[in-house]
Amino acid sequence: MLRNCKECGKVFSHPSQTLCAHCSKVRSEEFIKVKDYLQSYPNAPLGEVASATEVSIESIEEFIRQGRLTVIPKGANVTCAVCGKAVPYGRVCAACRGDLKGKEPIEQVRNDKESAKSRLHTMDTLRRRY
Ligand SMILES: [Zn+2]
Ligand SMILES: [Zn+2]
Repeated sequence: MLRNCKECGKVFSHPSQTLCAHCSKVRSEEFIKVKDYLQSYPNAPLGEVASATEVSIESIEEFIRQGRLTVIPKGANVTCAVCGKAVPYGRVCAACRGDLKGKEPIEQVRNDKESAKSRLHTMDTLRRRY
């Protein structure tokens, strides 16, 4: 199926991708940069992450919305995908996450070990703040 790349507008052929091969490669490189930076600086604010990695804030927010980042930069606008409430982490709030148990995509489950670690980290940060 022919479609236009969401990013550069180039016509390409793929059944499900919204980005052409070039842009999706750039996007995944961006994701790795952001993820690595947040692993080293878990408390970095969104603006700092964006300028340090040279990735646009829009792209970073998209990674957050997709639930791909286990560490969310400070000041990022993250809302629960189910109820719309602001969440400190992930795609859905704790309450909705409970409801979604057993329906999590495989990728999420695979990352669970890593997520648990950063979740602890987030809790630490929250505790320190209070
Ligand atoms: Zn493209
Ligand atoms: Zn919710």
